[in-house]
Amino acid sequence: MPELPEVETIRRDLLPRVVGHTITHVFLSPDAPRLVRWPSPAEFCRALPGQRIEAISRRGKYLLFHLSDGRYLIVHLRMTGALLHRTKDAPDDPYLRIHFSLDDRSELRYTDLRKLGSMWLVEEPEAVVGKLGPDALEGLSWQALRSLTDGRSAPIKAVLMDQQALAGLGNIYSEEALFLAGIHPRRPAKSLNDDEVTRLHRAIGEVLAEALGHRGSSFRDYVDAEGRQGQHQWHVRVYRRTDEPCYTCGTQIQRIKLGGRSTHFCPRCQRRMDGDHRRRPRHLPRRAASDT
Ligand SMILES: [Zn+2]
Repeated sequence: MPELPEVETIRRDLLPRVVGHTITHVFLSPDAPRLVRWPSPAEFCRALPGQRIEAISRRGKYLLFHLSDGRYLIVHLRMTGALLHRTKDAPDDPYLRIHFSLDDRSELRYTDLRKLGSMWLVEEPEAVVGKLGPDALEGLSWQALRSLTDGRSAPIKAVLMDQQALAGLGNIYSEEALFLAGIHPRRPAKSLNDDEVTRLHRAIGEVLAEALGHRGSSFRDYVDAEGRQGQHQWHVRVYRRTDEPCYTCGTQIQRIKLGGRSTHFCPRCQRRMDGDHRRRPRHLPRRAASDT
C-alpha cells in the first residue's frame, strides 16, 4: 500500500502539472462501481467539469484536490491505486478506472488493479479526513508523539500504524522508524521513556525524508505520476529482510506476526525490554526478569 512518502511524491509530481488547469470531462469506468463514495457517481461526473484545480494538499495517505468552487476531490489509493498524468493520446493504461480530461489536452488517469481505492467530492474535507491523527510529516511534534503513546498498552508498531493516532505510516515506514530508534515493535506504547520517544520522533522524520528522497518504495505496485517506480525499496533496513543480516550488527532480521501483519526487526538492535532492562535488579535471574 502506498504510504506517506509515496502519496507525497505523487502530490509533488502533480503540482506543476495540473494546478491551474480546468477539468473538462470525466470518464468513470462501469467496472468500478464502488470507487466514488460521495456523492453518486452520476453527480460526481456531472459536478467536476468546469472546475479548476487550485491546489493539492495531503493528509496522511489522502490527496486533496482543492477545486475552484470551494469543494474538494479527495483520493485514497489503498492497495494498488495509481494517479498518472498522461497526454490525451498516450497509450491506454491497464486497469483504468477513471480519468479526468484537463484543458491542456492532458489526462489525470486513475488505475487500480484491485479496485479498493476511493474518491469523494465534498464541501468539507473533515467529513473524510477529520478523524486522522497528526500528519507524520507535517504536524508531528515531540509532545504529540509522547501524548499518543501515553496510556496506550497496544504495541508501539500498531499505534504508529493507527491512522487515527498518527496519519501516514504503514507497515514499511513504521518498521523502519522503529529500527532506527532501536525500539522493539512489540513494546507497549506507554512503556517508552522520554529518550525513546525522542529517538522515535527523530527516526520517523529521518525515515520519511529518506524515502521522499528516493521517491517512495516500489515493493509491488506503487508508481509515481509518470508511471515510474520509487527507489527506496533498495534502501530499507529491516522491511522484508527476513533472515538477512542486520546492517548494523549482523544479526539475522526476524519476522513476527503483530496484529495480523508481518513485522520485521533486528532482535539485537531492538531488544524486547529496551529501556526497562537497565532497571532490572541485579540479583534477579535474567530469564525471570525478561519473562515479565
Ligand atoms: Zn542489528
